[in-house]
Amino acid sequence: MMHDLTQLKDQVRAKIEAYWPLFIRDLADVVAINSERGETEPGYPFGKEPARALAAFLARAAEEGFETDNVDNYAGTVSYGDGAEAVGVMAHLDIVPAGKGWASDPFTLVERGGRLYGRGVSDDKGPAVGALYGLKIIRDLGLPLTKKIQLIVGTNEEQGSKCMEYFVQHRPVPSMGFTPDAGYPLIFAEKGNLWTELSFPVADSPIRSFYGGEAFNAVPAEAVVVLDGKRVDAAALAASIDPEDSRGYETDVRVEDDGNVRLCVKGLAAHGSVPEIGVNAVVSAAMILTRFFGDEADGLLKFVAAEIGRDTRGEKLGLAVSDADSGSLSLNLGKIRYDGEERTLCIDIRYPVTLTLEGMIDAYTAMAKRYNLEFKVISSSSPHYVPKDSVVVSRLMSAYRTATGDLEAEPYAIGGGTYAKKFGGNFVAFGPEFPNQEPSNIHNFDENVVIENFKKHLLISTMAIIALAS
Ligand SMILES: [Zn+2]
Repeated sequence: MMHDLTQLKDQVRAKIEAYWPLFIRDLADVVAINSERGETEPGYPFGKEPARALAAFLARAAEEGFETDNVDNYAGTVSYGDGAEAVGVMAHLDIVPAGKGWASDPFTLVERGGRLYGRGVSDDKGPAVGALYGLKIIRDLGLPLTKKIQLIVGTNEEQGSKCMEYFVQHRPVPSMGFTPDAGYPLIFAEKGNLWTELSFPVADSPIRSFYGGEAFNAVPAEAVVVLDGKRVDAAALAASIDPEDSRGYETDVRVEDDGNVRLCVKGLAAHGSVPEIGVNAVVSAAMILTRFFGDEADGLLKFVAAEIGRDTRGEKLGLAVSDADSGSLSLNLGKIRYDGEERTLCIDIRYPVTLTLEGMIDAYTAMAKRYNLEFKVISSSSPHYVPKDSVVVSRLMSAYRTATGDLEAEPYAIGGGTYAKKFGGNFVAFGPEFPNQEPSNIHNFDENVVIENFKKHLLISTMAIIALAS
């Protein structure tokens, strides 16, 4: 039976207000645990702190009288109701490192100017604790439901979602659901992903080392090149630099104590799924060096400067492809390792949903062959696509529209992958960020949520659970 969501709206909203102080208390407890990935130890697949956050969360849920299950410190579940089928809500309790620059302690939840600040308030501890309160509210309302509701929390989302790979192998998977770990109104398509290491032959070079970038999925904001001081003149290198090669970002050439020449190039960081909004410092450095060495530049430099260059869609490499549902393929050079031992480029590709993983690998293999290069696949995933007219999308969209009154916003595609991918075709990402809202600084300093927006998120997601479990 479908409940009348419009009638429930005011009741749910009143409950959110009533529970708000308790929600803040519980969120503060979870934020206080620095649950970034730690050393693997027996019984602690992702280190002790993510497991501690999981235990604290499950203990809180058990105190509330919900049935809980710790799945070997990979993930955990909180269940309510019964029924042969279950609705799943997946959120994560791990975080990326807090980093520097915070106006207040990242592990102390604080309210300032109508916002809550703390690592994880938006991504994704806030939505996780919020979903627990959603269960409480649904239980309070005593609505008849036909499905069981299962909140599934993981502890490795930020490092590849190994938590949910383990979960789906060791527990029954709910029949449909959502993950509040992206945006509203709803993400119906997530591009496929291919991470490769492309290797170039090591040969004699005036470049002693060339490093930049820390991860596949981020645009490098800095590159550092050390050149042999006997073979390269610092003044000549400095004079050769065209500011256009670094898009105006800072460059610096200096002679080190040991006589070698150090070139440092800055750029603009961005997430690897949207390389077009960053300025890749590794590409900038390769352009500077190619201009300086001319024909003498080695194959790797020429490849990075001319074949990748500022083209983030892989056009020159012959990889460009796009479709109406999910847009263009994106290509990010996330990392370079260039020294006497190896010359490797780490490349993150996000490909449209109409291409298969096999098709993507075939195209990439053909590209590598054309340039005579070897490559290794480091990680890959198939695209995720849930039709807009599916039951899960239509019920979630109706919950969103009823709760917000926003009838304009339409489901959209993203380049990143969420937990939905691990759960299959009846799962989508849904919330918590709103279209056109101010940035909440996830993965950055001063991560925050606007309190009014977050209460709206709680309303939508609670109504969404009711809509799916009815
Ligand atoms: Zn997240």
